Parts: sequence; C-alpha cells; structure tokens
Amino acid sequence: MTRLTVPYVTPWTGESTSPPPVTVTASGVAYADPAQDALARDVDGVLWALCGGTATGRPEYAAELHPERQRTAMENLLCACCKKPGARDERGMLWVLPLLDDSVDARWEGVRSAIPPMCEACAKTAPRLCPRLREGHVKLRVREAEPIGVRGTLYPRPGEQGPQDPDALVLFGSADLAFVVARQAVRELRRTTVVAFAAAIG
Ligand SMILES: [Zn+2]
Repeated sequence: MTRLTVPYVTPWTGESTSPPPVTVTASGVAYADPAQDALARDVDGVLWALCGGTATGRPEYAAELHPERQRTAMENLLCACCKKPGARDERGMLWVLPLLDDSVDARWEGVRSAIPPMCEACAKTAPRLCPRLREGHVKLRVREAEPIGVRGTLYPRPGEQGPQDPDALVLFGSADLAFVVARQAVRELRRTTVVAFAAAIG
C-alpha cells in the first residue's frame, strides 16, 4: 500500500490562526500592531489571518484548510496535497470536491471553491485521507477558475450593531473587503466537465 502523507493544505494541531487584536475604523479592519498589519496585507490591501505554531501534533482533517498554505496553493494553482502544479488536460484543470448538498447544479458549473486543484496522483489518494472527500466526491475538469474573493471573518463597521460573521464570503469589488480578515482564497469554477462521482468509501 502506498504510504499516505498529510496533504499540504491540512492544518496541524500544533498550528494556530487565532487573530491578533484588531481595530475597526470607518476605513476598515486593521491589526493593532502596524508591523503585523503590514505583514498580513496582500498587494490588493486585503488583510489576511496570521498563522502561528508549527506543523506538529496531529493533522486536523475536519478543520478549515491552513490559511497560508491554502492561499499559496490556490493563488498559484498548485496541488492541495503535494504542492506540485495542478493536473491539466484538454478539458482543463483537475479539481476534486466533496459532494455538497442537493442544491448544487448537476453540471457543477459556477461552484465557488476554497479547495485548491490537485495533481493526478493525489486525486487518487486524497479521498482515502480526507474525511470530507471520503463521504463522497466529484472529480471535475475546469477550464476557468477565476479568483472571485475571500472567505474570512467579516467585522461590523463602527456604529453598526451585530456580531462578526466568522465565515463570510466577500467578493472582490465589495465594500466589505476592507472589513474582512481573510482566511481562504476563493475561485469560481466555470466551463466544468464532470469526470466522475464517487460514493462514500466504506
Ligand atoms: Zn499532488
């Protein structure tokens, strides 16, 4: 049996992403420490979660993908598991996604994914490792995967009532972008071809 290694984007119990203190002003959310803030802003001015700790302990398959590594893989279209380039053929790039709910279009067109693509080898092994894929998954080929926004914690504006939204999807171009601490880069998968569905692995 092939030895299975923990996927690149899987977080470990030794890692943390607890956010440093933030300030919220009319112009947006910022880390209270300007040095940390500068470190965590991307070229578009989006504030990203800061990751601490080390990849030790146990892999946490059920948790959200590790923000820093998810972003690296997603922005560069690298395999979520081994960080090699995602597989491509004439139908596009290879994506393996958990089956969501009945509301998903049967053609899996326009799915907004925070899961990066995969290479051929990992597309075979990942469902044995990842509980979400083990419960059933779809294998897609994708011709267009435009970055559309981020998932993260959306802070209320000053004077606004209500709690933070810990899992908001904020699209590029939205005024909310200044008020989110991003944890996951999101792409919209278009011109898709469903290659295979797999039922739950027993
Ligand atoms: Zn791979």
